[in-house]
Amino acid sequence: MKTILVIEDNPENLYLSRFILEQNGYKVISAETGLAGVDLALAKKPDLILMDIQLPDINGLEATRRIRSAPEGSDLIIVALTSYAMQGDRDKALKAGCTGYIEKPINPDTFLAQMAEHFHPLADDSKEI
Ligand code: MN
Repeated sequence: MKTILVIEDNPENLYLSRFILEQNGYKVISAETGLAGVDLALAKKPDLILMDIQLPDINGLEATRRIRSAPEGSDLIIVALTSYAMQGDRDKALKAGCTGYIEKPINPDTFLAQMAEHFHPLADDSKEI
């Protein structure tokens, strides 16, 4: 079972993400602030992190940079949740070290497939030559 860390301060978004992920067999851990998210990411090393950008303390970009600067965090998959309206956020997320991004609002019909695109291809041995 893959573990997903959702770093998200909006209760409705967190609920929706958790619901979709758990319904599809993922284990979900969560944090509602950037600092708590960094701590959980480095302690648990989840299979993938969904990172909101606007958070109450440090934002998702800074949280991503802090995760990336730690040895345990350099290889983690971090997918930013960026607002469709904030076009600059996508470039900033990639520059901060995010693996990719998914635009909010979350679309329940496409969310899982969008997220799964970011899993390490090398994590699936069957795909290695
Ligand atoms: Mn937020």
